[in-house]
Amino acid sequence: MTERSQETSVPYKGRLAPSPTGALHLGNVRTFMIAYLRARSLGGKIAFRMEDLDHPRDKPGAADAARRDLEWLGFDWDEEYVQSQRKGIYRDAAEQLRREGRIYPCTCSRRDVETAQSAPHEGDQLKYPGTCRGRYSSWEEAEKIRPPCWRFKVDRPCNVEFADVFAGRMSMDVAETLGDFPLARDRGGAGYTLAAAVDDAIAGITEVVRGDDLLPATPAQILVQRALGLKTPAYCHVPLVTGPDGRRLAKRHGDTRIESFRAAGWSREKITGLLAASCGWCSPGTEIALEDLIGAFSLDTIPHEPFVFSPEGV
Ligand code: GLU
Ligand code: ZN
Repeated sequence: MTERSQETSVPYKGRLAPSPTGALHLGNVRTFMIAYLRARSLGGKIAFRMEDLDHPRDKPGAADAARRDLEWLGFDWDEEYVQSQRKGIYRDAAEQLRREGRIYPCTCSRRDVETAQSAPHEGDQLKYPGTCRGRYSSWEEAEKIRPPCWRFKVDRPCNVEFADVFAGRMSMDVAETLGDFPLARDRGGAGYTLAAAVDDAIAGITEVVRGDDLLPATPAQILVQRALGLKTPAYCHVPLVTGPDGRRLAKRHGDTRIESFRAAGWSREKITGLLAASCGWCSPGTEIALEDLIGAFSLDTIPHEPFVFSPEGV
């Protein structure tokens, strides 16, 4: 078992944080399985957090569908909350950052502003050159130019290091990779980086298990936590599922939605077995319930390369 970098006296608490931007598919579920089994195998608790701040990409009904799919697969959790009902918490956090001069309004292009809202999965984070730093004395002044976003002031250089439980030692200069990254597109709003950083810290999450496409987003979350005087959890980034073309599993690879497998007559044990075999917890072809994997779980058997899924192979 890979050692956690946290003191062992703190009970483990993990989280499942789906975004209701589409149906759950094999790729999301494999990552959730790893997160779930990691927590349960350590006797830990799990928070379920619906990350529904991403209008207009959020799809109506997707949050309920995700919850249903996970429950059907045998997932359970100990507490649940919805980000859209916690906006006051993010507003207070942003206000604290504003008062302390850690953020500033930016009136650069709408595209930059939009990227503040979602988790940056496809390497779509752009390095911001700092154009608006020191440009406006207030949000109201910037608003006269165009609808602004808040940006976080990143020192130059700004090296952030952390020991990822799965991916190993990471060291990134945020001034070089992101620059002053966006935090919110409304005066009192919050995008993914701020909301996730605040929620992980105040929910007392001890370890974040998620896809390694979010590795580059992690130092920004750590900086936000530090600026707010909040605790930083341990991180455990695991490889994604890709199609045969090496790209992140998506519609172009055919229909890998859980609801479609279910409709085609697959049992939950067959889906779980397929994904568990890809993690080295059982042999291919095994059909097994999620709860029966708690004893077999290990991070050490998970390949460090993406799991390539080809629909023809099942
Ligand atoms: N809600 C994000 C997603 O579905 C994951 C964010 C996270 O785990 O920090 O992509
Ligand atoms: Zn700007």
